[in-house]
Amino acid sequence: MEKITQAILEGAPGEEIGSLELPESMTAAYVRKDEQEMFEGMEHDAKDPRKSLHVDEVDIPPLGPNECLIAVMASAINFNTVWTSIFEPLPTFLFLERFGREGELGARHNLDHHIVGSDAAAVVLKTGPGVTRWKPGDRVTVHCNYVDLEAPTGHDDSMMDPGQRIWGFETNFGSLAEVSMVKANQLMPMPTHLTWEEAACNGLVNSTSYRMLVSPNGAQMKQGDVVLIWGATGGLGGYASQMVLNGGGIPVGVVSSEDKVELLHEIGVEHVINRKAEGYQFWDGDRQNPKEFKRFGGKIRELVGEDPDIVFEHPGRQTFGASVFVTKRGGKIVTCASTSGYQHVFDNRYLWMMLKSIIGSHFANYKEAWEANRLLDLGKIHPILSKTYPLSETAEAAWQVHQNLHKGKLGIRVLSPEDGLGVQDEAKRAKYADKIEVFSRFSD
Ligand code: NDP
Repeated sequence: MEKITQAILEGAPGEEIGSLELPESMTAAYVRKDEQEMFEGMEHDAKDPRKSLHVDEVDIPPLGPNECLIAVMASAINFNTVWTSIFEPLPTFLFLERFGREGELGARHNLDHHIVGSDAAAVVLKTGPGVTRWKPGDRVTVHCNYVDLEAPTGHDDSMMDPGQRIWGFETNFGSLAEVSMVKANQLMPMPTHLTWEEAACNGLVNSTSYRMLVSPNGAQMKQGDVVLIWGATGGLGGYASQMVLNGGGIPVGVVSSEDKVELLHEIGVEHVINRKAEGYQFWDGDRQNPKEFKRFGGKIRELVGEDPDIVFEHPGRQTFGASVFVTKRGGKIVTCASTSGYQHVFDNRYLWMMLKSIIGSHFANYKEAWEANRLLDLGKIHPILSKTYPLSETAEAAWQVHQNLHKGKLGIRVLSPEDGLGVQDEAKRAKYADKIEVFSRFSD
């Protein structure tokens, strides 16, 4: 891989990069099928990605029709890599086996190791038959929706396609590897003022937040809307906070430490609740505590003077009852996850009597991802990238996210030897220097 990395770092022309021979093996982060039961019977928090995620040599992925092989310069940790590495709620080998039953191309993914990772900043190395829009040497970020679009239902919105999969979670050959395999319809141009690691950490969570808040498929936030954002500096929330500000909404961020409160104030979020300092106890054993819902709702009213039009939900079981309670009459709860448990309990009287609605949302289609990526390229969104790790320390980074010890995003340097490389347009970066400086203050 050294020759390829060197050619990329030296800015070699695309034809030269495309002509370089690929090695037979590469370094990648993966979980093993023969270890998928290793955490059985253990508590969620005790399941340790540092025991299950391996970084070692594996074969270079195959290349098929409408696919590209990309050299991954940087990647990032998403929560889905945490789920894969603790084999919750189920081992992702089940996804690979199902894919394997779908024919020859799917069978390539059904291996005894699963290479994880759903975000990348990369350079196209090889293109398969049928690829016309991308060529070797192109600098790209990756949209992690892996879909053929054979079914008619996917043609208004590819997230409605029954064959839709999340790359590096429901497929093999994800981004925490020196070379990854993607479909051509996953590629997007790399924002020209960002470094490899800054460009690598956005795709999955930025696009998901865009669909949840902005898209006609989500809550369709309008100017003046009050939006309650759980985990407002986290993977999803760090982007949601910026989108609400950009769209003329009023974000109310919920976080769990004073440095996160400060971060939100610095980027312009006026109303912030430190949930730890307030000590909310929404659950009392296995019963919910409506008094605590009222105390939480009262805090939002005290800060903003009204209830949220939209609640941006993903913690799930621990918060969902409170989210439904505090939403304004006629408002929307938009949810994409259940980090603290997927069996939600809420008092339906607060929903139907107050004409509220719950919107289920999952990742984003290519158009939504492209729009979200464009916001990055326009400098309107910037990642909260607090730390980067080398590929060899992927498991430690996943552990940090599992234990909620991180801020914003954790990046992984794959082929890029150090932080700060990959910027294509220094003049543009200088234009956004003040904004970038604010965000960089929160790096560890
Ligand atoms: P992060 O861990 O980066 O951020 C989530 C934040 O939520 C945390 O930083 C924490 O912030 C807050 N949080 C965690 N647990 C609780 C809790 N019990 N109560 C209140 N707040 C809590 O993760 P992501 O934002 O990247 O992902 C969040 C979830 O969304 C994951 O389950 C992930 O798998 C899922 N997801 C789903 C997608 C989809 O397409 N369906 C796409 C992307 C993510 P703080 O401690 O500061 O309050």
